[in-house]
Amino acid sequence: MNWGKDILFSLVLFLLASFCLLSILGINSEPLPELKLDISKPTEPWIIEIIPPGGSIFSVLANQNVPPQEIGLLAYNFGDYIDVTTIQPGDTLKVLLSEDKQHIKKLMFVQEPTTRHHFTVSGDSLIYHLEALPVKKAKRIIEGTIQETLDATLLTMGFAPQDKQAINNGLETEINFSRDARNGDQFLVFVEERIFEGKTLPGRKIFYVQYTGERTGTCELFRYEDAEENSVLNGLYTIEGKSCHSNGVGFPLSVIHVVSSFGKRLDPFHGSWANHQGVDYRAHYGTPVYAVAGGKVTTASYNGGWGNEIRINHPSGLSTQYAHLSSINVHKGQNVKKGQIIGRVGSTGRSTGAHLHFGLIKGKKYINPTNLKMVGTEKLNETQMARFKSQQQTILQEMENLKHPGPLITKK
Ligand SMILES: [Zn+2]
Repeated sequence: MNWGKDILFSLVLFLLASFCLLSILGINSEPLPELKLDISKPTEPWIIEIIPPGGSIFSVLANQNVPPQEIGLLAYNFGDYIDVTTIQPGDTLKVLLSEDKQHIKKLMFVQEPTTRHHFTVSGDSLIYHLEALPVKKAKRIIEGTIQETLDATLLTMGFAPQDKQAINNGLETEINFSRDARNGDQFLVFVEERIFEGKTLPGRKIFYVQYTGERTGTCELFRYEDAEENSVLNGLYTIEGKSCHSNGVGFPLSVIHVVSSFGKRLDPFHGSWANHQGVDYRAHYGTPVYAVAGGKVTTASYNGGWGNEIRINHPSGLSTQYAHLSSINVHKGQNVKKGQIIGRVGSTGRSTGAHLHFGLIKGKKYINPTNLKMVGTEKLNETQMARFKSQQQTILQEMENLKHPGPLITKK
């Protein structure tokens, strides 16, 4: 029996020793690799797409075979949060679909690196959340000398095309460039830049432009800012408050937010692609609607899907259309002036909420209203002028402070 007991004891000792040895060596003996193809727990299938030139968030989703009614829900709500005219090729769309790929669960739209629009689908509606990463704002004076053209000079100095255009358009009303501009002319621009991670983001806010040449003399433009952030009046004016764009038509509303642009779009009623024959502007119920140019009223009545509708024939041969109005202030055959209130924003006819549908007609064809050069005002009125004068003083003072920074205030 003793013999057997010893063997058993040795066996136990051996097993213990082996176990200890294995435990010590255990750091090197790797566990079996986990199977990565774990079908019970799928990874979150975020789809990441970049908006291509000429594409929309909706065409990108359609390319991913997202069901049209899902895109329709988004198309219907999206414009409430984002002015669709600010969407640029290169912006990123991230979409999280349900497992059967039939529903959108979440969507993130990244505009610039700093602005993230989050949408979460909840039943028939969207929950929206804006995430804006902190951006440093800095004002700066940029000076240059004309080489070849102002256009080329601004581009080589790193101005984005839209900034360059604003400066150019403004100065063109004051200066005959082809006749009077010369190489060596001086210009100065006072801007606010947004800086993110050490890089300047595109889209500078231009506060002041000065151009000086032997033949042009000195020409100055100042930025006017209305109390409303998206006012059609915001922009560059001469010192006397004259607009830099003098021969455009007016805007149909005083504050602009485009919820749906001209062309192919998803119909919110049917979830199918349709051609949108105008531009939709978001506006509160009852907001005044203005005639964009003088002309004769040809329609001022209820007209099926358009609801309460006004059409105006202009001497240029173009006609404009204002639809879904809550009220009409003009009658057929009446002559109207540019800027006259013709009706109020509503949601009559085939409409899903208060907005203005603005159409432009040439012959019998609807054309893109953004082809019109629209101008907030040709001249600021008396009240606006008082505001403008004080803004001019602030701008000049800020530039002076930048040129001659005062002594640093030391803490006591
Ligand atoms: Zn419309």
